[in-house]
Amino acid sequence: MLSTMQDGQLSLAKLLRHGTKVHAKSEVVTWTGSEARRETYAELGKHAARLANALRGLGVTGDQRVGTFMWNNAEHLAAYLAVPAMGAVLHTLNIRLFPEQLVFVANHAEDHVVIVDGTLVPLLASNLPGMKTVKHVIVANGDASALTAPEGVTVHSYDELLAGQSDEFDWPEIDERAAAAMCYTSGTTGDPKGVVYSHRSIWLHSMQVCMTDSMRLAQEDLALAIVPMFHAMSWGLPYAAMMVGASLLMPDRFLQPAPIAALLAAEKPTFAAAVPTIWQGLLAHLDANPQDISHVREVVVGGSAAPPSLMHAFEERYDVPILHAWGMTETSPLGSVARPPASATGEERWAYRYTQGRFPASVAARLIGDDGEELPWDNEAVGELEVSGPWIAGAYHGGSDIDPEKFHDGWLRTGDVGKISPDGFLTLTDRAKDVIKSGGEWISSVDLENAVMGHPAVAEAAVVGIPDEKWDERPLVAVVVKEGQQATAEELREYLSDKVAKWQLPENWTFVAEVPKTSVGKFDKKRLRASYSEGKLD
Ligand code: ADP
Repeated sequence: MLSTMQDGQLSLAKLLRHGTKVHAKSEVVTWTGSEARRETYAELGKHAARLANALRGLGVTGDQRVGTFMWNNAEHLAAYLAVPAMGAVLHTLNIRLFPEQLVFVANHAEDHVVIVDGTLVPLLASNLPGMKTVKHVIVANGDASALTAPEGVTVHSYDELLAGQSDEFDWPEIDERAAAAMCYTSGTTGDPKGVVYSHRSIWLHSMQVCMTDSMRLAQEDLALAIVPMFHAMSWGLPYAAMMVGASLLMPDRFLQPAPIAALLAAEKPTFAAAVPTIWQGLLAHLDANPQDISHVREVVVGGSAAPPSLMHAFEERYDVPILHAWGMTETSPLGSVARPPASATGEERWAYRYTQGRFPASVAARLIGDDGEELPWDNEAVGELEVSGPWIAGAYHGGSDIDPEKFHDGWLRTGDVGKISPDGFLTLTDRAKDVIKSGGEWISSVDLENAVMGHPAVAEAAVVGIPDEKWDERPLVAVVVKEGQQATAEELREYLSDKVAKWQLPENWTFVAEVPKTSVGKFDKKRLRASYSEGKLD
């Protein structure tokens, strides 16, 4: 029997119309370093229409790709709305990719237009000659004349191009399964691969972001989106904000701890999202320059494991709870969120919060063992996590021969290794590639890192496996000591002695000024391992 229900398309054109009309007074607030510039969602709707008209004027039709090479700001948000809503495809270029990767992704996605922030023009300019499909570059928030275009490319000033355009655009009806936006994995492991989100997948994902047991983004929020709009779509915040009318606070290029602290003081956001390394940096800054940030009702941390010491520091010293979440570019990115069951109290509650969390109803998960068999959810059996669902990638852009290993029988192989409790909480022990195999047993680099970062003198600690004649591999700990503090390998080993199994206690330690980071701010273990094998670490 067929249902009697209508079949409305879940398109971003609809989301744009809704957000900019119903939530006309909500705002996108962009930080300029000393103050904020504001645009209401009503104005943003007109802004997006002018942009769409300008892009049509440049010949953007069908599902052509429009790249953005931008910080988080109002202009980037306008592109997030205008490009998919006009039927084209938004491609958020990661400004921190290596030049060859950047050229690779622009060519692979076949970007036709690139919108670039003025401060990023020098970074783009050197790569532009290699981007063979790019015909137009639009310079926003800066001086277009600073860019000398290669042959065949026309440079435009964003303001001049949009001036005089109509404030209205006839947003088309769009099939909800059509491509809306694309994002390449940041290439922590291997070449970047393109994930193409549909209107439908973004819509459903946005609803999840707003759900109470998820990030609970709501109309009364001012959400500070530190996670870049080129990193897994800023974890879905921009579209979710349009859905419920939450205002957005955009830090633009001011991502260091001091300007973030200034922005917190000036705008008092209620919610914020970023990878752990950002919060580690902010914590050190706040400890040296105390400030009340209790206006932040919750901070979402994901992208890599949130160290328990970080969660305790923010909650106990600043009254700001950290919500731990797991996801990937391939999962839109919201996978699991660690909200403890209502029945859990005290230490048990914390134990739940340290995990990567529970999957929502729309995301199915399973663990697969070395023998390819599914493992039980008993919080003991450890295997590779696989997920499936309506906002999980089923392939990469470019066809089924791009990394076919990653997908099978409708499941995405995450490359993450962990266990799941009977009540559905995921605990990741590692990325498959980062697991340390010592004497036939696995050592979790994440567990070791969390334990070392619990030491009061440690700012950051990253652990990688290094070759060992006797044991195959042993852990090497790269430690950043907090400014003005001291710690020796012996002291840290002693500190760990009652926290990890004896055979796991690392004998290899190196003290570094900084742990190398990937383009999205995660510990770059590939570089750490390379530095070690090149003899650059003691
Ligand atoms: P890249 O794969 O290039 O790093 P992504 O941001 O898509 O880019 O990374 C997704 C990966 O990040 C996951 O597969 C997982 O390994 C890691 N990750 C994300 N969130 C967490 C978390 N809360 N705890 C541990 N690892 C995480």
